[in-house]
Amino acid sequence: MVAIHCVVKSCVRSKESKHSFPNPSKNLDLLNKWVMLCANKRLRVMTPQKIYTNCRVCSKHFNPKDFSRNKRLGRKAYPTLLLPDDDVSDDDVSDDELKTNKNLKNPKTYSKATIGEIIGLTLLAEAN
Ligand SMILES: [Zn+2]
Repeated sequence: MVAIHCVVKSCVRSKESKHSFPNPSKNLDLLNKWVMLCANKRLRVMTPQKIYTNCRVCSKHFNPKDFSRNKRLGRKAYPTLLLPDDDVSDDDVSDDELKTNKNLKNPKTYSKATIGEIIGLTLLAEAN
């Protein structure tokens, strides 16, 4: 099995404990938020389910207050520390590409859509 690394862009490999992304079937919005905070382009072409299954974020990106006493992340926690400070301007997903995915409005289709498509839709929805 391939070792799992933290997916936060610019994060150096560490031995910190790693945390799974939020379960997309329970909290897709929160998963979206994590993906945006990680600023990792590779995530954009993955489905939420794949991100949930394969990707991890190390504990140093979370506020210690987000952990309960048994070291579990709170259900609404998201990464806030040591995140990349450059914006996602080097993202090669163009607006045009995202606009072509309007047919993904049905939330049930998300299992086949990449997170980039879903986030693109969310951003478009907010702009309107
Ligand atoms: Zn990390």
